[in-house]
Amino acid sequence: MSAPALRQPKMLNIVRKPPVNVQCFSDDQSVILTLKDCRKLVISSDSYHGILMAGNMYKCVFCGSEMELDNKLKEAHKNLMTHKRCLERYPHLEDFSENLIRKLSNDSLYCSLCNVVMTTTAATRHVTTETHKDQLEKAEIKATTYKPI
Ligand SMILES: [Zn+2]
Ligand SMILES: [Zn+2]
Repeated sequence: MSAPALRQPKMLNIVRKPPVNVQCFSDDQSVILTLKDCRKLVISSDSYHGILMAGNMYKCVFCGSEMELDNKLKEAHKNLMTHKRCLERYPHLEDFSENLIRKLSNDSLYCSLCNVVMTTTAATRHVTTETHKDQLEKAEIKATTYKPI
């Protein structure tokens, strides 16, 4: 049986294709995401990177690390190799498509549009809330008007 060896690379390509492609980082503030159906969404770089304000600290929901409220520290964290690898481990879930939901653990999810962490059971309701729909609409509008520098 020599056929499986030939088929292997093709299969890997299919498995690795992410549901959402990050098209480019046009500046420090915004990230353009291209969905599978070629629709584009523009969200803030902090939301994309999962960086939240937690009390008087910034917290990265993916790495679990905390840092002082300092822009330089925050930007440096986004560029860390360890952080980038962390992000790759939490791809946007295909089931939620344009709602940009990432799975953090078995019982928690992260919404890249609203920049919030929620329980898995709350997610189905979350994507139907006005707050979330507003954020999605804003991301779509920004994508049509946004001019990368
Ligand atoms: Zn991180
Ligand atoms: Zn949301």
